[in-house]
Order: sequence, then structure tokens, then C-alpha cells
Amino acid sequence: MATTSSCKYIPTDTQKLDVAAIHGENLTSIFTGKKEVIAVDNISFDIEEKKITAIIGESGSGKSTLLKLIYGLLEPNDGEVRYKGWLVPTRKDKLIPGHDAMKMVSQGFDDLNLYAKVWDNIASQLPNTNIEYKKERTEKTLKKLKIDHLTQQRVADLSGGERQRVAIARALINDPEVLLMDEPFNQVDAAFRDGLQQDIKQIVVETGLTVVLISHDPAEVLAMADTLIVMRNGKIVDAGNPKNLYYKPKHPYTAILLAKSNILTPPQASKLNIHQNNTIAIHQEWIDVIANQNSNFSILDIKFRGFYSEYVVGNKEIALHAIVKTETPIPIGTGVDIKILNFISFEAQLL
Ligand code: ADP
Ligand code: MG
Repeated sequence: MATTSSCKYIPTDTQKLDVAAIHGENLTSIFTGKKEVIAVDNISFDIEEKKITAIIGESGSGKSTLLKLIYGLLEPNDGEVRYKGWLVPTRKDKLIPGHDAMKMVSQGFDDLNLYAKVWDNIASQLPNTNIEYKKERTEKTLKKLKIDHLTQQRVADLSGGERQRVAIARALINDPEVLLMDEPFNQVDAAFRDGLQQDIKQIVVETGLTVVLISHDPAEVLAMADTLIVMRNGKIVDAGNPKNLYYKPKHPYTAILLAKSNILTPPQASKLNIHQNNTIAIHQEWIDVIANQNSNFSILDIKFRGFYSEYVVGNKEIALHAIVKTETPIPIGTGVDIKILNFISFEAQLL
């Protein structure tokens, strides 16, 4: 295991060491400036080894700050991060922060030399002590990221997706155990995202790499991540595997983020004959819309979304968004019955 002399080792309980590669304990990060911002607010978490964990949440929720804390780029105001039981060193411990077993790909390709060739951007990460090994290793890494046909091109001439592959290859060439990525698909055209996601998944399966990545667009990570951590206002409001979080979120925020769900208070729910003491969520695909001239609900608006349309249905008191297949259009203003097929009831009146 790669360690550094400045790591303090305090064994935690062995069971945790088996599953959690990264453990955060009561982490807090506060920015003081004109206005004090608690970017990460007393959070604890475990990140599983050899899996893909995605940190999701809207802009400003503290995702990038959390990733920097995990990597040791930022010193927490309180709490600590451990990698396999070892305290992750920060700037005050070490010239180059971060645990030696971790590599971070930051947002915006900051680490790449745009005017150098792809080959040099990647090979430069290895020492010149063994030229043959350097060549072999660089070729292998280029192949793994499917950019071996681009070796002689300048990074400046590549597409966003290709640049992201170069940045990942550069981070992986020294075989880190953990790869941290901040919004890795942001600059990648939608059509090429699936391919890159698939390749990252493949690398995780083949090499046992632990990946932690950030996304503000959950749709892109639902299919890719083994675990999601949902952040809101510096706190973790939900965590678990994508399917569980989609169907059984603990917090309405998760339901909105993952499913654009309709969130209703108990009085609103009662208008649909759902009588609950707490907030509920109704996913858009759990609503059937059936034309009925005598109903006191009607179609308020229709948003064309391609293979389906999003109908806004309801009345002056309540408006719900529902997915309706495009083949059976019902005009705006038509009276409709709203049939609720399923809903989630939260443990408290959360909003
Ligand atoms: P996210 O990555 O989820 O968009 P960030 O972690 O970047 O969120 O930011 C969380 C909060 O901390 C935001 O309110 C942001 O404005 C603030 N913040 C982040 N970095 C700094 C900084 N260097 N100085 C002051 N405030 C910061
Ligand atoms: Mg960010």
C-alpha cells in the first residue's frame, strides 16, 4: 500500500477497513470572506473500495469542496478524512497534498498542457529512469482510454471528450488506487458520454480502481454509479445505490433530483384522495391522465419532450407533472382524471 511518511496511522475497527476505502468523519469546511459560507457542514461518510461513487447535488451544494477535502487539497475546519485508516495529508503536511494512492482530475483540464502532444502530456508523468517501461506503460494507458490514435495530436486540437480521456489517462498512468473526478462529463458531448462512462466502468472492473466523481446531472450517473451521495446545502441528505434512491429516497430533494418528482404537502395530497401525515413524492411516470369532461382537473400545459410529453395537470390548487406517451395527445384545457399509481411517503414533513 502506498503511504507517506507524514501519514498518521490510527487503526479503526477492522470491519470498516474491509469495505470503506475512504472514511470521512464530522467534516466541516467553512469559507470566510465577505460572507461566511459553510460549504461542507459536519458530514460523515464511507466510500466503498473498487466501486464508483457519485456525489450529486445542485450547484453550490458543496460537492467540489467535499472532493477537495477527500483529496487533501483543503484543510477541514473540523473532522478528518482517512484512506484505509490513514489520515489523508493536506497542504500543511506535504508540499503536494493528497494521499499518494489518490489522483484527482479537476474541472476544466487545468492539469493538461494544451500545446503539448497527447503522448507527452501522459508520458511526462513517468520518470526517465526506465525508458522502455515508460514507453510501454504510456502505450498501454493510451489504449485503455482508447486514445492511442491521437498520440501525436496537440491537446488543443482535441474535442472535449478526447481531452477528458487524456486527463484521465494522465491521472491513471501511475496506477493510483483512487481516482477523483470533478464533473468529468461536463465538457463531453452528450453523444460521447455513454462511451466514456462505459470505459470508466470497464477500468474499475478490470483494475479494481476506486472512483469518486461529481455530477450535477444525476441522469448521467444513474446508470454508472454503484453508490450515490446526495448533497444539499453542505449536508448529505441521502446515500445508497441508484435504484434504492430512485424508488425509496429518504428526502424529497433526492426525488426531485433523480426523478423530477412531484412533491406534495399533506393538504395538497388530500386533493388527490391521498391522506398522509407527511410530505409525499409522486414520480411523473406514476401518474395516469385520462380524459374526462366532468373532472375538476384539466390539462394546464404540455411540454414536448420527444418520445414522451410532460403534461402539467391539475387546477388552481394543485399542479402535477406527468409523463404521457406522445402517440395519444390530449389538447390543453381538456378535463382529465388523475390516477396516481404509486407514491413515496417521507418520514417527516420535509421540504
Ligand atoms: P458545488 O461544487 O456543489 O457547486 P462548491 O463546493 O464549489 O459547490 O461550493 C460550495 C459553497 O462554497 C458555495 O456557496 C460556494 O460559493 C462556496 N465556495 C466554494 N469555494 C469557495 C472559495 N474558495 N471561497 C469562498 N467560497 C467558496
Ligand atoms: Mg463544483
